[in-house]
Amino acid sequence: MKIETIAIHAGNKTDADTQAVIQPIIMSTTFKREVDGSYANGYIYSRSANPNRQLLENVVAKLEGGVDAAAFSSGNAAGMAVFQALEPGTHIIGPDDMYHGLRNQIKTLFAGVLEFDFIDVNDEATLLAHIKPNTKLIWVETPSNPLLKLTDIRKVVAIAHERGIKVACDNTFASPVFQQPLALGADLVMHSTTKYFGGHSDLMGGILITPKQDDLWQKIRQVQEMGGAVPSPMDCYYLVRSLKTLPYRMRGHAANAQQLAEYLEQHPKVERVMYPGLPSHPQHDIAKAQMTGGYSGMLSFCVKGDAQTAKQVLSKLKFFTIATSLGGVESLIEHRASVEGPDTKTPFNLLRVSVGLEHIDDLIADMEQALGAI
Ligand SMILES: *Cc1c(COP(=O)(O)O)cnc(C)c1O
Repeated sequence: MKIETIAIHAGNKTDADTQAVIQPIIMSTTFKREVDGSYANGYIYSRSANPNRQLLENVVAKLEGGVDAAAFSSGNAAGMAVFQALEPGTHIIGPDDMYHGLRNQIKTLFAGVLEFDFIDVNDEATLLAHIKPNTKLIWVETPSNPLLKLTDIRKVVAIAHERGIKVACDNTFASPVFQQPLALGADLVMHSTTKYFGGHSDLMGGILITPKQDDLWQKIRQVQEMGGAVPSPMDCYYLVRSLKTLPYRMRGHAANAQQLAEYLEQHPKVERVMYPGLPSHPQHDIAKAQMTGGYSGMLSFCVKGDAQTAKQVLSKLKFFTIATSLGGVESLIEHRASVEGPDTKTPFNLLRVSVGLEHIDDLIADMEQALGAI
């Protein structure tokens, strides 16, 4: 099956009782037990398993080419399940520009539990220098946030696997439509489903996908069921619904982002544009080698000037809402340095754009008038 067909069929089951074509939302927290103690359909209690969550996990596992998936109530909860599944004292390596919410989670909640280093994971010498005997996990995020830096997944996997280390990939920015880390050798994929999977800025969630039922995966399942940070049946339903259009939405986001990036790159008031689909991107070759069909819908650009100039651009835009987050059908823009706080390394003149599905002519015209006004 091709990805469009998986997206539509792997998350749906026609209802046996009513013949409803779309799977109903099963809100019940508990399921009827037989007198002999058995459960006719295997469902016991909704924290452990629920029909809507099961189909969500099924479709996402297949979209990423994995064998199983575990859904959580947010991307951070999904990330946390991985870190909680590791033995205390384990050393993990993450990217220095890791999604700040997860980097802060590790630094705050896992201090004294795990050892960690945040480094330039794509730099081979740096990576080799930081691997220790107790290193068990390398976390990659590509393209990264907000600098759109790339990590060569195959290269990191080769270094890690030679040393018995697993590689997890945050695939939120790329989506399985453009990048499938498991096929490149990764051992785990993570998504904030709040972003492109949900796609409409109206639900929170996270999910992990595995290529095999190994010990780490059993531990992650325990964290999911015992920890209980699971999504509601309603959220699972909406996610399954949104995923049906994921391939088409992603192609729309990517086509708009490519054109907007090309427009911004030639604008005299723009210092530089960071988008993996531009030949000027310093790692465009890595993007071409591991992404297929497009480069997703996220870009950043630096205006000529300072934070004040960048914020002036924001104030003039009509179709780009000033807000954090990404992946919705509406375009969003933000001054990233002020979101990330005092220890940010993000340039102060940088604006991060989640390019939506509005018509590209309207988006470019809006940018044109906003940049023209500064
Ligand atoms: C948003 C995001 C997360 C965290 O997900 P939440 O759903 O906000 O908890 C993790 N990684 C990336 C790349 C993200 O954009």
